[in-house]
Amino acid sequence: MAMYAESVALSIGSQSSLSALACDPAHSRGRRFAEAPAPTRNAFQRDRDRIVHSTAFRRLVYKTQVFLNHEGDLFRTRLTHSLEVAQLGRSIARALGLNEDLVEAVALAHDLGHTPFGHAGQDVLNECMTEHGGFEHNLQSLRVVDQLEERYPAFDGLNLSFETREGVLKHCSRANAEQLEQMEPGGVGRRFIDHTQPSLEAQLCNLADAIAYNAHDIDDGVRSGLISMEQLLQVDLFADYHQQTLAEHPGLLAKPRRLLYESIRRMLSDQVYDVIDTTRRAVAYLGVRTLDQARLAGPLVAFSPSMKTRSIELKKFLFAQLYRHPQVMHTTGQAQQVVRELFAAYVAQPSEMPIDFATSADLHRSVADYIAGMTDRFALREHERLTGRKLL
Ligand code: MG
Repeated sequence: MAMYAESVALSIGSQSSLSALACDPAHSRGRRFAEAPAPTRNAFQRDRDRIVHSTAFRRLVYKTQVFLNHEGDLFRTRLTHSLEVAQLGRSIARALGLNEDLVEAVALAHDLGHTPFGHAGQDVLNECMTEHGGFEHNLQSLRVVDQLEERYPAFDGLNLSFETREGVLKHCSRANAEQLEQMEPGGVGRRFIDHTQPSLEAQLCNLADAIAYNAHDIDDGVRSGLISMEQLLQVDLFADYHQQTLAEHPGLLAKPRRLLYESIRRMLSDQVYDVIDTTRRAVAYLGVRTLDQARLAGPLVAFSPSMKTRSIELKKFLFAQLYRHPQVMHTTGQAQQVVRELFAAYVAQPSEMPIDFATSADLHRSVADYIAGMTDRFALREHERLTGRKLL
């Protein structure tokens, strides 16, 4: 599979002031299958458009982030989460002169491989696949864009640029990296063997992901009634902005929702400014001048040490108080049972799956692919159809 660089004129849809450390679509490492350049879009804009038009992207609207899709209309789903990551990522990219289109493409694709029911689904699928190569949602996102989407006459997947695929694969085990390396020497698996860094755009998306979910999980957690403002005030990162907001707007004590939003807004902004500032300092301090040098340096897009500490404290709080809340754990347990029983049912009767999955040479992998692609509600319907029992 020859890599093919898209030589679109630099002027097409490019930002006015790109840093020398930004990925440049005109110098992309290319796509796995040669395609003529698009007349009006650069390679990364085209990747983003392909992601937005994919089936897996549309399914994100019915996939759980923390709360199951049917638990309320106002909670985040994987889709709105991905849009928030893209928004935060682009803001930071613009300030740092990094490629906004690439950041947007990676952000919109980063969760495509997530199973129904969030982490509960992924853990069970990984358990079911222990003897058959395991299941990792990051690797699955890559599988979706490389293989599982069926939209083009000549190849499987979306045939995205190397840089977008590299950003999608944010973690990867050594064993999986070695397998990827065999299929695609020097490709997206290599950095997990070499211990080098991905592009700054990819690093940025990881951080934007964490900034987004920490903030929106506070919002959803409070909205659901599972965490209270009093509990949140034990978390330094939140308490500081809450105090600041009240000092400036004492009247908001009577308007708790606005107080919450203003505190979260300030927290988001400060994290964004912190990343921008810390990244600029790191680049200047280390004297990194080219993207190749950046790949060999440690992670450059990062929080300052104090922001990192406070962000980890918030993450731990959310883990203990929200993700491990008895009510969430109860639905998690049921969701795990749905995935476990679906897996067993399809392995026992592959013909219950669509023909392409049923006739695959690797049955277990294709059952995992089929289940991973499901929305929450489709998984529940299938579970009821196959077992005759209604859970959740
Ligand atoms: Mg995410």
